[in-house]
Amino acid sequence: MEAVLIERGEQAFHARQIFRWIYRRGVADVKQMTDLSRPLRTKLQGEFMVPTPAVRSEQLSFDGTRKFVLELADGRHVESVFIPDTPAMTFCISTQVGCAMSCGFCLTGKMGLVRNLTPGEIAGQVRVLAKATGLLDKPFNIVLMGMGEPLHNYDNTMKALRMLHQEHGFAISPRRVTLSTVGIVPGLERLAREPLMPNLAISLHATTEEQRTALVPPNRKYSLASLIETCRNFPLKKRARITFEYVMLEGVNDSPDDARRLVKLLAGMKAKVNLIPLNPAPGIDFNRPSDERVERFAQILADRHMTVSVRKSRGRDIRAACGQLIVDGGTKKSAGQQMALLLRST
Ligand code: SAH
Repeated sequence: MEAVLIERGEQAFHARQIFRWIYRRGVADVKQMTDLSRPLRTKLQGEFMVPTPAVRSEQLSFDGTRKFVLELADGRHVESVFIPDTPAMTFCISTQVGCAMSCGFCLTGKMGLVRNLTPGEIAGQVRVLAKATGLLDKPFNIVLMGMGEPLHNYDNTMKALRMLHQEHGFAISPRRVTLSTVGIVPGLERLAREPLMPNLAISLHATTEEQRTALVPPNRKYSLASLIETCRNFPLKKRARITFEYVMLEGVNDSPDDARRLVKLLAGMKAKVNLIPLNPAPGIDFNRPSDERVERFAQILADRHMTVSVRKSRGRDIRAACGQLIVDGGTKKSAGQQMALLLRST
């Protein structure tokens, strides 16, 4: 922005003013940026706009969770979720329209990938949610756990995080951001070298190659063994740990044997396990295990000194919980159609 202003014979510091309006005050309309001179506002207004996702609908859960359907400039939609009191205030943000990973238990996976979000669209969700929830000048956490696979849209996701970190904007510390991934190994290797490093969550979900390939198809390419190896080598700050997410599917991966294998797999790692009892949805051919079964699984981990938590599902009544985000009809595209879309978006 500074470069653009200088090119037009304006002073660079206006960039800071504009950035503050956009991020700290939630104002995207140049006309309302009252500390810029009128001529400058008129000039900028004629040339620029700040595309901002538009709230198309909003649903409120009995537990305070709010799900937003946001419309992007091209008419596509994504979902973003506000989850209060976790104990922090948390925004769950999407990185793609749809997702190409096709995990068998996830509704977004059924959509296939429509397109990547731009850095502005990723950061824009945070702007919209912060404004809608009155948190523009208050602390909040961000989890990249909405629609899409962040490491499958690596550059845009990382650019968005840099924008959100910018000191004149939200100035969000990377400690307040968690990136969740199915475990695209080359992406993790790149992430390991990033100066701005979010917390890492790995969607593990299984303890053998065969079981994981059946549930998380990218495992075919990035094996469980290579993923675990990469995690073992991942640089972690003092006291930091990798979260391993484990969706629990009745009769599939929820037995005491699975729990014991999980302990072995993660032995010696700075890890914590987050169990996610399946959030059922139409078209998902798995069942949620009973609370007792989840409890038993958790106990086996705890007995072996692993840190384990069970994710409370939030907003299930409005289909805002993990794996329940889906928009635009959600018809799965063929591999050929997906490839065409990918090519078009590059
Ligand atoms: N693609 C990234 C970001 C999505 S995060 C990833 O896979 O990590 C969403 C989390 O919810 C992931 O751990 C995902 O595996 C989990 N999930 C997906 N469908 C679910 C469902 N139906 N019930 C519970 N958790 C689910």
